[in-house]
Amino acid sequence: MSKTQKLVAIKGMNDILPPESAKWEWLEDKVRDLMARFAYRNMRTPIVEPTALFVRGLGEVTDIVEKEMYSFEDRLNGEQLTLRPEATAGVVRAVVEHTMLYEGGKRLYYMGPMFRHERPQRGRYRQFHQIGAEALGFPGAEVDAELILLAHSLWQEIGLQNIELQLNSLGQPEERKAHRAALIEYLEKNLDVLDEDARRRLYSNPLRILDTKNPAMQELVNAAPRLFDFLGEASLAHFETVKTILDANGVKWTLNPRLVRGMDYYNLTVFEFITTQLGSQGTICGGGRYDYLIEQIGGKPAPAVGWALGVERVLELLKEQEQPVPEPTSDAYAIIPDAQALPTVMATLQKLRMAGVTVQMHSAVTAGEGMGSMKSQFKKADASGARFALIFGPDEMARGAVTVKSLRDGNGQQVEQPLADIDTWAATLHITG
Ligand code: ATP
Ligand code: MG
Repeated sequence: MSKTQKLVAIKGMNDILPPESAKWEWLEDKVRDLMARFAYRNMRTPIVEPTALFVRGLGEVTDIVEKEMYSFEDRLNGEQLTLRPEATAGVVRAVVEHTMLYEGGKRLYYMGPMFRHERPQRGRYRQFHQIGAEALGFPGAEVDAELILLAHSLWQEIGLQNIELQLNSLGQPEERKAHRAALIEYLEKNLDVLDEDARRRLYSNPLRILDTKNPAMQELVNAAPRLFDFLGEASLAHFETVKTILDANGVKWTLNPRLVRGMDYYNLTVFEFITTQLGSQGTICGGGRYDYLIEQIGGKPAPAVGWALGVERVLELLKEQEQPVPEPTSDAYAIIPDAQALPTVMATLQKLRMAGVTVQMHSAVTAGEGMGSMKSQFKKADASGARFALIFGPDEMARGAVTVKSLRDGNGQQVEQPLADIDTWAATLHITG
């Protein structure tokens, strides 16, 4: 590559720039606040993990492990590594590694980038972001319901509407085994309808065939034996409890007996929150119970349940629904006619900021030409969206004062305030969160 050739980001990996980034921060703040109210604690795991963690955790015959992982060899020590395609496996690894379940269950959440080599399109990227919640060590169906309520509450907090909650139960391993046998028998009788993917998975992972997006196979899939019909009493009771709690909270749901989810590790309750407003990338959040994953990753057997949402899809849906997201504004913009005043001005701004006021200082963009005309500074002040201009003119400075001029009300009211006594008037400027 020549030195002058432009360097650009990798396809499907996006820069998140202002003002868009403010929406991300807004959403993340909402999440942090809500997670705290549900007593879920933040957890941060590495973005790179041993490849074996995902192969073991997610299942060898899943889309992610078969074709979507960014895996590579560490050229310094030959280790096989993978950029995390999801975070549950890493959370479980960390929980086991640090014996976090020693004193009982844990409620955890995370946010961060994930990586999957998929075909980039609206709502589908190669670096995308998830926010996830996991409750580990709790076997009860009430915790499944709590997690669903947590996601449901988030939609309410951020103003998302028309999201459908689909539920299913995948039962327990023995029930899946009986269903699997019936399913294979059924699919063997219809070999001619199966596509290449389905034939390959017929014996390795027949349940995933039901998850196909191939229209030619829909009829076959619709008439296939349903796992739900193979559930025993205990599994049904677990599912019943989840539904009863959701009903008591007025959370609407529909049963989708074909919901199987992309990872192998789920059992009992699985769920997705779905919208029709994002084209084919309609799942904004998915999750379920994964009581066997901890053991599979080498921990002492312990139950767990969790979900993950796609941040890009949630933000795109907010935009689609024209839900207003507050934009950051400044309380004040400092207008500085003479650079000689800068030491005093900046000492003043510093005090204002420490008193909680949001202040943007005017700065020259051309070297050697001073601070710029008053007119151009006022233009910048207006464009900044600030509510007040702080004018540090020579007359005010001589009196040890600053002029505070309103930029929002039509007649531009202004008052002079003393620099020596900032605490008495700082609060009158402070409007931003
Ligand atoms: P899909 O069926 O759309 O591929 P998935 O089942 O692979 O989704 P999960 O692994 O359950 O998705 O991840 C949880 C959420 O993360 C999804 O519901 C979605 O909102 C988001 N997500 C998954 N893959 C991507 C991606 N490539 N780009 C953007 N968001 C994604
Ligand atoms: Mg996927």
